[in-house]
Amino acid sequence: MIDWKSLFTDLNVPYWDNGKNCSPGRINIQCPFCSDHSNHGSFGITKGDYQCWRCKGGHPVKAVSLAAHIPMDTARQLIQKYSKGFNPFLQAEQTHKSSVKSITLPGEPLKDCHRRYLSEVRKFDPEELEFYHGILGTTDVGYWQGIDFRYRVIIPIYDVWGNLCTFQGRDYTQQQELRYKCCPVDKAVVHHKHLLYGAELARNKDRIVVVEGVFDQWRMGPGSVATFGTSLTREQVNLISMWKEVIFLFDPEPEAQEHAREYARDISACGCSVEVCAAEFGYDAKGNPRDPGDLTPDEARGVMKELGMV
Ligand SMILES: [Zn+2]
Repeated sequence: MIDWKSLFTDLNVPYWDNGKNCSPGRINIQCPFCSDHSNHGSFGITKGDYQCWRCKGGHPVKAVSLAAHIPMDTARQLIQKYSKGFNPFLQAEQTHKSSVKSITLPGEPLKDCHRRYLSEVRKFDPEELEFYHGILGTTDVGYWQGIDFRYRVIIPIYDVWGNLCTFQGRDYTQQQELRYKCCPVDKAVVHHKHLLYGAELARNKDRIVVVEGVFDQWRMGPGSVATFGTSLTREQVNLISMWKEVIFLFDPEPEAQEHAREYARDISACGCSVEVCAAEFGYDAKGNPRDPGDLTPDEARGVMKELGMV
């Protein structure tokens, strides 16, 4: 619950909650994103979201910042102050509204074939991954809603609250054409590119380390979140800006680093403290630069310690 009324009274921002264009559970203001300041902006009392009928709106922290002419970090602190018993993580705007309310994952508890791939090929501890991430596995029976998810490690993806939203399947035979196969958008509760992998384990931390892929997140552990690639959606940028301190740890390739620097600028404009870590991790046996996911568990712990995460 967010006490928007007290917040706007303090800030001298006009608001109303009855009359034309009002919905129950919402507090209306003149939309600061609309060029003519239309009367179509509103904040959700329960979810903390911001919507505008006309322009679709933007991030709630940004909306308060613009409406009250105060900096983003002040707006964020004030919203937290008026969020009674509410996690300060505001729901990021979701442009993808799914009609799917819940999903059931394909797969069963891990079998030897999955464990061998994870521990011998990828050097992960399968028990740890089951415990923290609820991973499952499929074998020769792995059709899900008519889609072939056979011979894969099933990786559930949660929102920041820990609600199951979607999943990916990672081939463990190293013979399938698609290494990763995603749950189709129309069958997911939330599209994975609107989520951060591992966010539910980093919710209560002040600082996060942003990595590219699921394997990088597994390696760096709780406190890291993965973006499913180096191109971020606006929803992901909004979500990341909910943390006070953000460190980008993308792969060492110049293109990935350029992306990291670009998003770091966007996110620091939201009042977050952002660093881009351009560490290099040497080369693997084939002469390719190593990614965070290629580190040994000890090396990963060392990096997390240097980044102030342990
Ligand atoms: Zn608007």
